[in-house]
Amino acid sequence: MDRTAIGFGEGHTPEAEWFDELRRRRIKGPISTQNRSLPRSLSPETLAVHAGTYEDPVTGAVGTPIFQTSTFHLDEASYDAFSDGALRDVPIYSRYGNPSQWSVQEKIAALEGAESAVVTSSGMAAIAATIYALTNSGSHIISAYDVYGGTYNLLREDMPSAGREVTFVDPLDLEAVRAAIRPETQLLLFESLTNPMLKAPDIRGLAQIARECGALLVIDNTFLSPINVRPLNLGADIVIHSATKYLGGHSDLTAGAATGRRKFVDRVWSQVLRFGGTLDPLVCFLLERGIKTLALRIRAQNENAVAIAEYLASSKYVEAVYHPALGGKGYSDLRLQDYQGFGGMVSFEVVGGDTGALRFMEHLTLPYVATSLGGVESLVSMPSNTSHSSLTKKQKDMIGINPGLIRLSVGIENVGDLIDDIQESLKAACEVKAP
Ligand SMILES: *Cc1c(COP(=O)(O)O)cnc(C)c1O
Repeated sequence: MDRTAIGFGEGHTPEAEWFDELRRRRIKGPISTQNRSLPRSLSPETLAVHAGTYEDPVTGAVGTPIFQTSTFHLDEASYDAFSDGALRDVPIYSRYGNPSQWSVQEKIAALEGAESAVVTSSGMAAIAATIYALTNSGSHIISAYDVYGGTYNLLREDMPSAGREVTFVDPLDLEAVRAAIRPETQLLLFESLTNPMLKAPDIRGLAQIARECGALLVIDNTFLSPINVRPLNLGADIVIHSATKYLGGHSDLTAGAATGRRKFVDRVWSQVLRFGGTLDPLVCFLLERGIKTLALRIRAQNENAVAIAEYLASSKYVEAVYHPALGGKGYSDLRLQDYQGFGGMVSFEVVGGDTGALRFMEHLTLPYVATSLGGVESLVSMPSNTSHSSLTKKQKDMIGINPGLIRLSVGIENVGDLIDDIQESLKAACEVKAP
């Protein structure tokens, strides 16, 4: 079989020396000539639908077929890839790469405005592979004290024994970030919007500091998605996603992604290869299908969340509301022109503390009480008894997790229905009648 005829095996550079060789001239991708490669200048709505789609030359299928195979026939292109060390560009074995992965990778890369992306079996797989790939033993990492729990545990529990020291700072305090810099600092790892307080750090400012000290800036863009902000355009080097959340968007898959310049993503890819966090072709299909509606979903979630945040701010049963659109502490320096919106997350404190919050959640009829976020359905949970339950009172205070704090992931339901449900439940929870 001549696979070159249908587009595999082309494009790798003849001067390639070895894959980890950072000086190697790189093409974007990997994609085959069968994958739709669209200009990054197109609108995100268009890229979400079309970028990366595998156009099957035999059947003309409109959607990417599911390449449910673990291995591929070896041919000249495969042997060339082995000798060139360009194994990422040719179908050989699905842990190395698979057209289902390439399609969804190209879609994610296009949406983030990146050269290349790698998809992984979870968000944590992407984060772990990125950190290991882009730092050496003996190096130093700076991150936020309120970074996602899984990331925090990885940095705290695994990095010291792997020879990486970590300093945790307030992500809004650029002076604290600057003060944490050491000669051996190699990586700054922050989130575009934090959990659960929804702080939006100054990505341009962080990128400036990273550049000054010769470190790389990694941004976990899970909470905002590329529809709302593209951190690579603001100076970040790598963007990470838990694709389990908004990218997938239907609470039906677990996946991750890392995206950026190909020379960095190649390194992350080879780390994923060794750690084994590859993404199954069937999940690639689900993820690719989910992303097609990303722009529509995010627009609806942006709007619903703002409407709910405004409603909550007006309710006598709510002590405080956290959402960037409401302004307040931490958002004054926000460069609004860098954002299209702030996603579907709203956090708020119910009158009556944790008891009031628990009663409120019990009364809700539409949102499910569940962790996770970013799906079409609204989900609600309390950080204090889920994601942040292992923190001490002092740590919770430092992050701002007060009694009664609820985290709501707003879905795409009718916002009037959601507000009615919230209103009824707040009333029922907070107006406890005398017996
Ligand atoms: C969920 C999440 C992760 C971890 O992703 P998994 O897909 O669960 O491994 C990382 N970062 C953020 C911000 C998340 O919300």
